[in-house]
Amino acid sequence: ALRKDRFHLIQAAPVAGSIGAEARELITSAEDIFVFDQSGRKLIDGPAGMWCINVGHRNQALADTLRDQAMSLTYSTPWYTSNAPAEKLAQMLAERAPGDLNHVFLTTGGSSAVETAIRLVQFYNNVRGQPQKKLLVSRQGSYHGSTYLTASLNGRPRDHDWMDGASELVRKLTCPNPFHRPANLSVEAFEDFLVDEFRALIAHEGAGRIAAFVAEPIQASGGVLMSPPNYLKRMRALCAENDILLIADEVVTAFGRLGHIFASEDVFGIQPDMITFAKGVTSGYFPLGGVMVSERLFAELRRSNHPNANFVHGLTYSSHPIGCAVAIRNIELLEDGLLEHAREIGPYFQEQLRTLEELPLVGEVRGAGLMAGIECVADAKAENPLDLDLTVGKRIDFHCQENGLLVRPLINMCVMSPPLTINRSQVDMMTDALRKGIEATAQDLIRERL
Ligand code: PMP
Repeated sequence: ALRKDRFHLIQAAPVAGSIGAEARELITSAEDIFVFDQSGRKLIDGPAGMWCINVGHRNQALADTLRDQAMSLTYSTPWYTSNAPAEKLAQMLAERAPGDLNHVFLTTGGSSAVETAIRLVQFYNNVRGQPQKKLLVSRQGSYHGSTYLTASLNGRPRDHDWMDGASELVRKLTCPNPFHRPANLSVEAFEDFLVDEFRALIAHEGAGRIAAFVAEPIQASGGVLMSPPNYLKRMRALCAENDILLIADEVVTAFGRLGHIFASEDVFGIQPDMITFAKGVTSGYFPLGGVMVSERLFAELRRSNHPNANFVHGLTYSSHPIGCAVAIRNIELLEDGLLEHAREIGPYFQEQLRTLEELPLVGEVRGAGLMAGIECVADAKAENPLDLDLTVGKRIDFHCQENGLLVRPLINMCVMSPPLTINRSQVDMMTDALRKGIEATAQDLIRERL
């Protein structure tokens, strides 16, 4: 008989074969940097939800804004109308974005933002008579989303190697993380290698076939992978020389995580042709994302009298008034001291977490601002430091939870990106819980090997 008393909520499936297989912690409430689970445990929200609760949980101003907007205008169609919060948000974003990124298309999250950016790029090349300029370049270790196309851009082959179609448009460059560079290369030589690899790809495919380079300024979900110092600037220059658009995927790095509204220019000194964002734009209080588009690119689209110049692209929830109202209030909160606080506490957070490098299990602690990755190795002093236990991230998470901290496990790493409201003593608590969690994990591993 058909059982209707069973249900299954399918949630993110990080590992093949694990769809819905794992029991999850049931989070029942939250307050600022803390979450409370079903059994009443209070845990520091180490990953801020998923790099998103930037102003902290249960923020009264954002909750009030949500309610007030729902009571005045809940929805207006972006196909035929506009609404005041969307107009105001667009203006605020344009004022804060680098260069001439004055145009914004609002979406429902990060994947739809990247997807929108790519459609715009392909359309742009189509209307200017270069329909063969379609290839997309991304990198190993990247994450750009879970839709068909964005998953194809992702750095992990298992995200897409079983899918046809979109992947054929994508070329992957080497992950720019110096920690995993070939042993014989200095960081400077590794940077040269990465730039030369892109140059060789352009020569091989032909600049006339490469449409865009999509890159997170710091590869977040890949494990907070930082690139060599001048890499982004040099890649930016190569893009410009070859008429390749640079899309900075700032879904994680924007809205305060690195102490600025957008990080591309303020932190990395580059002006992309497009910036995608989501997450922190509403601090996770409403699903919203978007793509900033340059004046130069948009002017081309406008000028076009191409017969197929009718770019049909709209999402029911683009420019959602509640999301936009929340984003406006969120940006005000960020600019009312929180960005400054993030810039002040970021170096302390980095410095404290770096002390974990003295633990034998820790190979590297890296990051910037309020994002950090702790990468474990079997033994940091061993000859081949990459011989590691792939369950180590989960084990650390388990032991950290015993010590009052939720972390985001990533195979052999854990990733930290707390709400920007975190203070010094809470950073100390976090570091202490991590130390204990990593030490307990090391003990487990030693015991199991005996
Ligand atoms: N780009 C980046 C850099 C991301 O980190 C993510 C989400 N982790 C996405 C895109 C996709 O965003 P969403 O999950 O909101 O679709």
